Amino acid sequence: MPRKNLLKHVKKIVVKIGTSSITEKDGISIKKISGFVDDVDRLIKKGYRLVIVTSGAIATGATTLGRKRDSITIPEKQALASVGQVILINEYRKHFDKKGIKVGQILLTEDDVKNRKRFVNARHTLDTLMEMGVIPIVNENDSVAVEEIKFGDNDTLSAHVACLIDADLLILLSDIDGFFREMDDPEPVEEIYEITEDVVKRAGGSGSSHGTGGMFTKIKAADIIIRFGEMMVIANSGVKNVLGRIMNGDKIGTIFVGKNKQLKGKKRWISMRNPRGLLVLDAGAVEALRIKKKSLLASGIKSAAGHFEMGDVVELSDESGNKFGKGSINYNRSELELIKGKRTGEIKGILGSKYFDEVVNRNDLVLY
Ligand code: GLU
Repeated sequence: MPRKNLLKHVKKIVVKIGTSSITEKDGISIKKISGFVDDVDRLIKKGYRLVIVTSGAIATGATTLGRKRDSITIPEKQALASVGQVILINEYRKHFDKKGIKVGQILLTEDDVKNRKRFVNARHTLDTLMEMGVIPIVNENDSVAVEEIKFGDNDTLSAHVACLIDADLLILLSDIDGFFREMDDPEPVEEIYEITEDVVKRAGGSGSSHGTGGMFTKIKAADIIIRFGEMMVIANSGVKNVLGRIMNGDKIGTIFVGKNKQLKGKKRWISMRNPRGLLVLDAGAVEALRIKKKSLLASGIKSAAGHFEMGDVVELSDESGNKFGKGSINYNRSELELIKGKRTGEIKGILGSKYFDEVVNRNDLVLY
């Protein structure tokens, strides 16, 4: 399909810009950042809603403090991020000010999207900023993000941000032209509809000397995006007016196109979560969910595994072990042990007055 048609309905865009696309060896590149801001400004004037995910905090901190990034400890890196982030956001602010556009800074860790309440809060803030005509500029909160709570790279972070705002398109700008099937191919692949094992293998595990994300993390991001039925473009930030040209339908870089039905809102959040438990359902419940499009009731649950709390995501399986969906559950594990297999009318007597008719509501369910 021509790119122009693919991109026709796009309204909300997340643009991720990599470290090498806004910095030089001696710190932030005014030329690169002002070129990028010009490009973003043109899209805003065309009516697109836009969130920027920027890298470059650690690199900027390192040049500011005269440190080499390859010989520093993790706490030092976190310290550099805190120094660099201030300079980075200020540079954006200065350039966007010239266009009459205000910016807001949002620093996230993985915890902020895993937890449903914090996810919803972050979404409200991002939506409100966009409604106010402000451009949200997001980075990972590197200064506080320890191993267990961090995304680790901004490609993955930007896919989650795209999920947060229900974006129609994610654009990853870096110093590479797109996804190449063979190393020595002259042009990148134009369109990819599926992340096959072969694509993953060819993406390798690399990272450049500037940022943490190589092609591997970009493909991981594409995998998340196309699972939602949305689109992602990998393109080179060095192309003049790259964003405008992408939106114009020019064949720049590689476009990843999701073919599944679009998942929005809470369902999208559910599909992103690693399940905390597993429920095995009897044939009647499987049919109710899959064919009759009903909610999951306690009576059809044969067994449960894992440690989950109310609101956590659990996976669903039939009695032969086929996993067919995920949902956010209304009960914790110990409550579930008491009510599994019971009729809805019995739950009140078992658990007292605070109860739900459904174990997993239809609206909180994603089937594979
Ligand atoms: N959050 C990091 C920074 O701002 C960049 C991570 C990445 O390049 O993926 O320095």
